[in-house]
Amino acid sequence: MNKFMIENARLVDGRIVSIFVQNGVIQQVASSIKVDNETQVIHLDNESYVSAGWIDTHTHCFDKFELYADNCESIGYKKGVTTVIDAGTSGADNVDEFYDSVKNCKTHVYSLLNISKTGLYAQNELADMRHVDSDAFMQAYQKHPHFIIGVKARMSKSVVEESGDLPLFEALKIAEQTKLPLMVHIGTAPSKLETVLANIRSGDIVTHIFNPKTNGIIQDSHIKECVFDAYQRGVFFDLGHGTDSFSFDVLDKANQNDLKVHSISSDIYYRNRQNGPVYDLATTMSKLYRKGYDLKEVIACVTSHPAKMLNLSHLGRIEKGYCGEFTIFKIIHKNKELVDSTGKRIIVSEYIQPVAVIIRNEYIQLEEDC
Ligand SMILES: [Zn+2]
Repeated sequence: MNKFMIENARLVDGRIVSIFVQNGVIQQVASSIKVDNETQVIHLDNESYVSAGWIDTHTHCFDKFELYADNCESIGYKKGVTTVIDAGTSGADNVDEFYDSVKNCKTHVYSLLNISKTGLYAQNELADMRHVDSDAFMQAYQKHPHFIIGVKARMSKSVVEESGDLPLFEALKIAEQTKLPLMVHIGTAPSKLETVLANIRSGDIVTHIFNPKTNGIIQDSHIKECVFDAYQRGVFFDLGHGTDSFSFDVLDKANQNDLKVHSISSDIYYRNRQNGPVYDLATTMSKLYRKGYDLKEVIACVTSHPAKMLNLSHLGRIEKGYCGEFTIFKIIHKNKELVDSTGKRIIVSEYIQPVAVIIRNEYIQLEEDC
């Protein structure tokens, strides 16, 4: 499908357009487009929406480490996600192996390389500071400059143990040296949230921002001042749902304070995909869609925002010159129970469901239970 046109393409901004793609690149977006006989035409029904292909900013898809692992296709295009970002499952010692395992996948995969050269071989990959090796990181980055698009540091107690805040400062040095964005995972201190937010740079990313832990964004039922400061300074906030890191109550409090995430990500791996509470990116998106975010905001959080945050400048927009890959989805008007990481349940009357993707010049209808 080298040349194709999507007709009756309903965008989340309300426009209904035709989109013409050649050689994987969007050539034209207009209310109607004339094409030749060789162009494949995909005519969408009135219930379908089209967005740029979804990007999941925080996933785990290096299946070497069973602790946090999944298959990139199972969490990727089969769930309507054309690009997945692996958030630190691999480090410099094993990034070659990781790259080899995903380079032929249909889903596009990128790495935020763990500052621990071991990657997630165990829960405490930053307990031994000898694992943090900036030379090894730099060599890995020079070898895979198009695959490694950021730096990942998991700054919580079970990961850093006695290393305290040290890995954070090493991560910042590596991010400076490589000129890459840094994603910091927050959880139980150390590091304290205040320390992370005071030191992280504009353009860096904090993931697990709506976690329900004591070291989270709320204190005495107020959002901590340091959170507003970082937000205004241009630090990006990522959802990073995960098994333990998303609370409806924290989301509600953030909404009351007009504090919205820049990216909606799943932090998915096989256990929280199969047993919940994550299941997939669309389910994660639906939680925010029914709680304070309109459809346009939700879609921006999985398209244009992550593309900007991670310098994926060819992705995220339906405009001339951008990547011709798309997610086609519907709003299903049916009741569905959604659960957060604390076990809190809500019943929603509408949810987002991907029905097809266009990836690598191929139109793929998704299975019903996606
Ligand atoms: Zn993660």
